[in-house]
Amino acid sequence: TAQEEGLLAKARAIGAEFVYEPEDVAKGVQEYLRLMDEGLTKHGRAMTMIPTYVTAVPNGTEKGVYLAVDLGGTNFRVCSIQLHGDSKFTLTQAKTPIPKSLMTGTSKELFSFLAKQIENFVKNHHADHFTAQGSTEHLKLGFTFSFPVEQVALNKGYLIRWTKGFDIQDAIGKDVCGLLQAEIDSLGLPVRVVALVNDTVGTLMARSYASPGKAGTLLGAIFGTGTNGAYVEKLSRIGKLHNKTEGEGEYDSSSGVMVINTEWGAFDNAMKVLPDTPYDRSLDKNSVNPGMQMFEKRVSGMFLGEILRNAIVALMKHGLFKMAHGTNIDENGPLFTPWSIDTSALSTIQADYTSEYTLTKQLLEREMGVSAATTGDAMAIKALVYGIGKRSARLAAVPIAATALATKAYDKYKEAKAEAEAKAKGGTPEEVEKIDIGVDGSVVEYYPGFERYLREALRDIQPLVEGAAGLEDAIRIGIAKDGSGVGAALIALVA
Ligand code: ADP
Repeated sequence: TAQEEGLLAKARAIGAEFVYEPEDVAKGVQEYLRLMDEGLTKHGRAMTMIPTYVTAVPNGTEKGVYLAVDLGGTNFRVCSIQLHGDSKFTLTQAKTPIPKSLMTGTSKELFSFLAKQIENFVKNHHADHFTAQGSTEHLKLGFTFSFPVEQVALNKGYLIRWTKGFDIQDAIGKDVCGLLQAEIDSLGLPVRVVALVNDTVGTLMARSYASPGKAGTLLGAIFGTGTNGAYVEKLSRIGKLHNKTEGEGEYDSSSGVMVINTEWGAFDNAMKVLPDTPYDRSLDKNSVNPGMQMFEKRVSGMFLGEILRNAIVALMKHGLFKMAHGTNIDENGPLFTPWSIDTSALSTIQADYTSEYTLTKQLLEREMGVSAATTGDAMAIKALVYGIGKRSARLAAVPIAATALATKAYDKYKEAKAEAEAKAKGGTPEEVEKIDIGVDGSVVEYYPGFERYLREALRDIQPLVEGAAGLEDAIRIGIAKDGSGVGAALIALVA
């Protein structure tokens, strides 16, 4: 009907507001390159570029048994990882919910609870370490701690503030590795906390161990609840890394590199180059941190559902849900409740190729409080989803392209390729190892076409950014599973 066509046209127009043009992706890459350099040399920038004191990435031949613990939000996870030295590993784990009362008590209460869980785990799974009484053979432990810390050494970091419902005042400003080690020691456990681990760095390490190549992984990237990345940078480019003092700021410089945790969620908080729509602006205004994490707010799982909700509300002024008599909308339901639409909804809708949009209609009923939506309504919503999801994936290309260029990883690839071609003398050249990127998170894993759209954006910038011709083909992307487990173990190993 004419009404349906009008609605679809409007939906496509809103979807088109999310189009992220090749020229804008290219501008994004240029700005990312600039902010990368700035963050590496100056303190206090939004995109922090944090030195992690990790100065090597694994190549898959590493061996041994390591412990890893993960204090994220709701659970405390303890695991041991046996690295087999052939890019494979065996993982044993135990998970305990953190009692709510401990989240707002004293640091002693929390950390002695954590140490107790480690004791249980080691007794259950590594009893052998208790038989050699007095032996100096300690198990090395990597501590994944997903709260803001100021890291000053591989195994030393001062807590800046709590997030995610934790509030333990006396821990602020303290070294969290020290707090954990003290409680481990008071239980007499043969365990050493050797590394404080950011989950992004864990992703990079896990992928580097498991990746098929020998050269190691360049970048680990997370597209989950939030988005962030860690990559291998030359020490000579990290201008702000200096003044080593006893126990702080020390690192092994023999590899000439260090992993940098970029905190790219804060890329372009100044909004010079990021795309912006009324739906983004409304989300930002209603967020707990307006003006912050502006890249993350356009890319990651915590936000895409809310962008969609804003766009759906806008489309309701243009006939959405008004075509069928009897369409029923819960006015106090999810569509009118900020932050109530889960990003998995976008994946479900994007993947709905049923002729009557059955999956989308079911989802509208189940998760959005809309019953009896028409096929026209569902089609219109899919047009919005398409725009939002594709923009997220294309934005993800910005830090990936910039990292490959800034580190000269792509220059090296081109040189190796030219060399291989010269050697082949017109025959088939030997294959050159691609630039390896490890990714993790539900958005990159489950949003249909995420990598395809990301790669389209990489190709789009090839003619627009200096030195980027042929870049897309040089990049290999692989899922990196379990950064906070095997990744943390690998950091404990290189410590
Ligand atoms: P985390 O980043 O917290 O470690 P995940 O990688 O699972 O965990 O990311 C969770 C985020 O991913 C949530 O914001 C959620 O809305 C979103 N999400 C969950 N399932 C999907 C899906 N199928 N498609 C897209 N996003 C999803």
